Amino acid sequence: MSRKSLRVDDSLETYLEELLAEEPDVLVRLRDETSRLEYANMQIGWEQGRLMTLLLRCLGAQNTIEIGVFTGYSTLVTALALPDTGRVVACDINEEWTGIATRYWREAGVAGKIDLRIGPASDTLDVMIADGEAASYDFAFIDADKTGYDTYYERCLELLRPGGLIAIDNALWDGAVADAADDSADTRAIRALNTRIARDPRVEAFLAPVGDGVHLAWKR
Ligand code: SAM
Ligand code: CA
Repeated sequence: MSRKSLRVDDSLETYLEELLAEEPDVLVRLRDETSRLEYANMQIGWEQGRLMTLLLRCLGAQNTIEIGVFTGYSTLVTALALPDTGRVVACDINEEWTGIATRYWREAGVAGKIDLRIGPASDTLDVMIADGEAASYDFAFIDADKTGYDTYYERCLELLRPGGLIAIDNALWDGAVADAADDSADTRAIRALNTRIARDPRVEAFLAPVGDGVHLAWKR
């Protein structure tokens, strides 16, 4: 036995897939429609969706924030995990992609829980803070433009209640964060935020190597 995490080879991957709870039909259909789009790989996988579902349930989450909606998969996972009284403030700039999202949210019967805000997420978060919503959210999922991550992290931390959780997607950036030769703006932004979160005394953090890496930051 080793204290290191096991490397997941193909046979273990199959084993895990067999044990994974079944992906709800509406999510399967949304994934199928999204797969025909050029940027389909921006969508999170169901494995990650399942992790988010459990985290939301553990938190007893009611009020959540989603930054980066695309065709709405992670927002729909979140809305499905919330009680009827739950709410997701969903931020994106693209009306075409979020048009697809809205169709599936309605179909799943959760559109009433989702407050879609079209516009730069940093502006939306500033408005929420100005409206006195600081310390009132339970969960935030950050998955939009990577150079904006630092701002989103700071704003979300302000909007979260103590005991709330931020999940930052693509924290491993397909391995680029550990490649010293990769100096792109996106890689530098993710790398800098990963380091900052790991040392941030305001949170307790763990970078989970699920999907493309999910950095979890629990607000003290
Ligand atoms: N979470 C989504 C899912 O699971 O399907 C994927 C989100 S995708 C990786 C990133 C999204 O961020 C895109 O839909 C894009 O339009 C949006 N985006 C990019 N820049 C943004 C900004 N400044 N403010 C808000 N959304 C932005
Ligand atoms: Ca992502």
